[in-house]
Amino acid sequence: MNNQGAPLSVINVLCGKNHDLQALRKSGVLYRRAARLLKKSETPESVVMVVSTFEGPVNVSATSSLEQSMLPAMDLTHDEEPTEDLDALFLDTQAHEMTLESNDEESDVEEYMQEDEHEDTVLGDDEQTSEEHGEHAPDYTKMADADCIRHWALAGNESLASVGRLLEMLRAKTDLNIPKDPRTVLRTKRDRATLLNIGDGQFWYHGISRCLVLELRKHATVPQVLLFDLNIDGLPLHSRSKTQFWPILMKVVEHPHWPVLVVGIYCGQSKPESNGPFLRPLVEEINALHRTGLVLEYATVRVHLRAIIADTPARAFIKGVQGHMGKHSCLKCCCEGETVEQRTVFLDTNANKRTDGAFRNKEYVLHQTGSTPLVDLENFDIIEDIVVGDRLHQIDIGVTKKLLNIWYIGVLRSTKRWNREQREIIHHRLKRQTFPFETQRKLRSLDDLSYWKGAECKAFLHYAAPVVLKGLLTGQQ
Ligand SMILES: [Zn+2]
Repeated sequence: MNNQGAPLSVINVLCGKNHDLQALRKSGVLYRRAARLLKKSETPESVVMVVSTFEGPVNVSATSSLEQSMLPAMDLTHDEEPTEDLDALFLDTQAHEMTLESNDEESDVEEYMQEDEHEDTVLGDDEQTSEEHGEHAPDYTKMADADCIRHWALAGNESLASVGRLLEMLRAKTDLNIPKDPRTVLRTKRDRATLLNIGDGQFWYHGISRCLVLELRKHATVPQVLLFDLNIDGLPLHSRSKTQFWPILMKVVEHPHWPVLVVGIYCGQSKPESNGPFLRPLVEEINALHRTGLVLEYATVRVHLRAIIADTPARAFIKGVQGHMGKHSCLKCCCEGETVEQRTVFLDTNANKRTDGAFRNKEYVLHQTGSTPLVDLENFDIIEDIVVGDRLHQIDIGVTKKLLNIWYIGVLRSTKRWNREQREIIHHRLKRQTFPFETQRKLRSLDDLSYWKGAECKAFLHYAAPVVLKGLLTGQQ
């Protein structure tokens, strides 16, 4: 890798104190063109001349034959005609620049598509963190040439095009044993992921078997039975765009230390248009796995889905039932909601429980507003096995925040809120509270209750409430 330094430092020296050339050097234009031109066995000196004449007249006192012949091409007064070779070089260099630019865009998309495909090329968390803190840089002397470049590319999140340019230059100027194609260095899989269009979005289905086979390779023993949970949820990708991911994630129950496996991802501007194409491949695969097991080279593993875990809106989506605001939205029983003070409440605690059989027969006409491929899942109880374990929406933002809204803000007409004196006491007590380190934030004032996050409600319930509310709650409350 040392040879690479030579032409670059020559470029540095040649640019000297000339501001225009220095600006070009800093913009990277010189190096990029140098990479190409050096391959054509031009000298670094001629590279600087070629580039400087391209970018406009700069005051360099050099009279190489190359520069002289390039000047007329730039519409400057000169007598000699450009030779054919140099004309070609000029066009070639320009064409090369344009390919570089278009490559940049393409490779970004490609990388994005393939990111999940080549998990093995992504650095582990630990490695990345220690890199950031500069604690222990890898020992390049012990690494293969290509691995050094791969490490550099991954650590700096370099584009395929940059890696390609570096490889091209190194291959031309050094005798390092490195591949031509950046994808070989990065160990990118060549077969593009198959994407399925669902509405305006795209769906990539990786598959349970493929996830498990890849994971099982890392372990010495193969278990006889594998029980797994699935999680389905939507998450925004950026704060400033509507693009969101709907991943299907999988966790093997008996092996909590195994990583969460990505079975599939939908990406689009909103949630998938329909749950049909989103869940169909999953349902088919689970059924097939259940019948035949996961067939490996030396063993067959029985694979069984234990539960599907999703938050309230996602549950309604995958089951094709009424959203949680609806009067027939309860997933577990047939209770009917009533409207009290513009809110839907469920007062019936003795309603009949919903059953798997009745659900599959589409008997809950008001509850089942759509269809779902999940009814085709074998050996799965669609009521019991889609669990309602959603602390954030039910306890933190649900009960805790709602009660504080009633007591402190006074959102219910029928219930009087705390009086000014009580609210002052709570305000002062809350201000003086210190929280253990495991709670992330200091609580904001209750006057900002509408901005409280789930974590704040949780911290209030477990740590602040017993102290802050002492002596203030009535028996009924
Ligand atoms: Zn219910």
